[in-house]
Amino acid sequence: MTEPAALLARWTDVRERIANAARRAGRVPSSITLVAISKTFPAADIQHLNGAGQIDFGENKVQEALDKMQVVGAAPLTWHLVGHLQSNKAKKAAAVFDVIHSVDSAKLLRTLDEGAAAADRTVRVFIQVDLAGEATKHGAKPADLPDILREAQRCHAAKLVGLMLLPPLGPDAESSRPYFAALRTLRDELVAGGTPAELLGELSMGMSYDFEVAIAEGATTVRVGSAIFGSRPMPPTGQSVHVR
Ligand SMILES: *Cc1c(COP(=O)(O)O)cnc(C)c1O
Repeated sequence: MTEPAALLARWTDVRERIANAARRAGRVPSSITLVAISKTFPAADIQHLNGAGQIDFGENKVQEALDKMQVVGAAPLTWHLVGHLQSNKAKKAAAVFDVIHSVDSAKLLRTLDEGAAAADRTVRVFIQVDLAGEATKHGAKPADLPDILREAQRCHAAKLVGLMLLPPLGPDAESSRPYFAALRTLRDELVAGGTPAELLGELSMGMSYDFEVAIAEGATTVRVGSAIFGSRPMPPTGQSVHVR
């Protein structure tokens, strides 16, 4: 567990940086949602931040999130899933998460709609878009979007709210800018092409090292982990999960 005072200080700093980036872009700070990405960190850290007023938390694994939901209980918070979602876990995810950022196919969206309907609730979803064409990364190709958008207009319990992007790791924050700008342009083109604007009102983009650039390019939701919680330990595979 992180020392609560240090955790709160980093969270306050990130909130100030978000507000400043918003003002520089001529935007209202409250128009940007900060999702605190708590993956690998204990439920106690979530409880400390929630007590201080942080509402939105993001996890990238369904089971890890379920474990933390058990501990946190009925606290007033909004759970986001930001990781790749396997289809065999989709119904469960739709029953417990409030927002899912990683929809990458019409089939997955349909399953989430069925899962949320069966649980008698609604779930907000983002389509994760792969603009880099990286074979290893998840996300829908722009060519897949018409299919997914058609499906979204048939769904009732899964409500599409926007597009999400995880750009390739570059040398600095500025290297993300062309991807952020491209996601915004893609959204604008889809709306100009007839997709109802309310389905694409949000852009989920920006992480610890590039959220200020993302806000300058129109992010409405930023997903910030290590700048709030500290660096994450190395996973057992030896592959680093640090962004920087
Ligand atoms: C881990 C993660 C983040 C947060 O990354 P940080 O660099 O720790 O801010 C954001 N988005 C996704 C999809 C992630 O998996």
